[in-house]
Amino acid sequence: MKIKFLFALVVLFSLVSCGETTKAKVEKVSHPDYAIVIHGGAGTILKKNMSVEKEKAYRDALNSALNIGEEILKSGGNSIDAVEKTIQFMENSELFNAGKGAVFTHDGKNEMDASIMYGKDQNAGAVGGVTNIKHPISAARAVMEKSEHVMMSGAGAESFVQNNKIEIVDPAYFRTERRWESLQRILKSEKGETMLSEDEDKDKKHGTVGCVALDREGNITAGTSTGGMTNKKFNRLGDSPIIGAGTYADNATCGVSCTGHGEYFIRYTVARDIAALMEYGGKSLAESSDYIINDKLVAKGGAGGIVALDRNGNIAMDFNTAGMYRGFAKPDERVVKIYKD
Ligand code: ASP
Repeated sequence: MKIKFLFALVVLFSLVSCGETTKAKVEKVSHPDYAIVIHGGAGTILKKNMSVEKEKAYRDALNSALNIGEEILKSGGNSIDAVEKTIQFMENSELFNAGKGAVFTHDGKNEMDASIMYGKDQNAGAVGGVTNIKHPISAARAVMEKSEHVMMSGAGAESFVQNNKIEIVDPAYFRTERRWESLQRILKSEKGETMLSEDEDKDKKHGTVGCVALDREGNITAGTSTGGMTNKKFNRLGDSPIIGAGTYADNATCGVSCTGHGEYFIRYTVARDIAALMEYGGKSLAESSDYIINDKLVAKGGAGGIVALDRNGNIAMDFNTAGMYRGFAKPDERVVKIYKD
């Protein structure tokens, strides 16, 4: 009797451990070792308006940004670090409307917004309207990890991060001639002194950077950083610092970073809506993203795009504008694109 009991125990134990091994195997092969996807803004980006040098500069910057995140993920680093460091690189580049290279407000200032969300526990952090933080994405991370809040703005956010060892710079650091000229042209056009081309008019809205990463542990992080829209007034905030609008991450579904006309992305909670279609509607990432960006948002008049990835490492890079600076990297694949295919 005792022997039979012992035998039954052994069989039961091996069944349980075998089940666990199978489950672990299934989970292991269900997502790639890592995946990372980035954007550098969507808009009226047309080949006819692009010089060979400018196009190369954008492609090089996108590749370098991907290299930074990929290195971290390849060596087993976590997705939060990958997203922060990748976005920091893009914030340092004058090519993008984030950090150095941020656009100007109506009053001639640079006011930046950023957010980050971790899909494992859905912790999140965001800053809005900051003027002297070199890396707004790092400030968003500090809010996520070192405070009980999700969102801080203006002077309050600036003083919070100073106590958390985030680099502060003189606001003049963010000034670039290219962005200053864009503001001057828009101000002149408001006074009727010049006419903006259709492309210029549309592009008042575009240029944000964003990154979504999946690490070896299967954790997804999404982050977004922006200078907002040229000529913005009244401390206007866009979608980029708003969790659910410009940024969203949930390990169970996907991570999303948006770029485009922020007011629409806020009204239609674009990032969360893509995840919700997966969560409640059982749709794939590709179906959800395509529907929200190319059907729903188009019908509402909202221009822009998203980059996203799901827990299996599937990538989406949808946009309803002429182009979007974008790219992704996985263990055996690297893509960098600017225009529509
Ligand atoms: N979404 C940003 C905003 O509205 C701008 C952009 O993505 O270009 O502030």
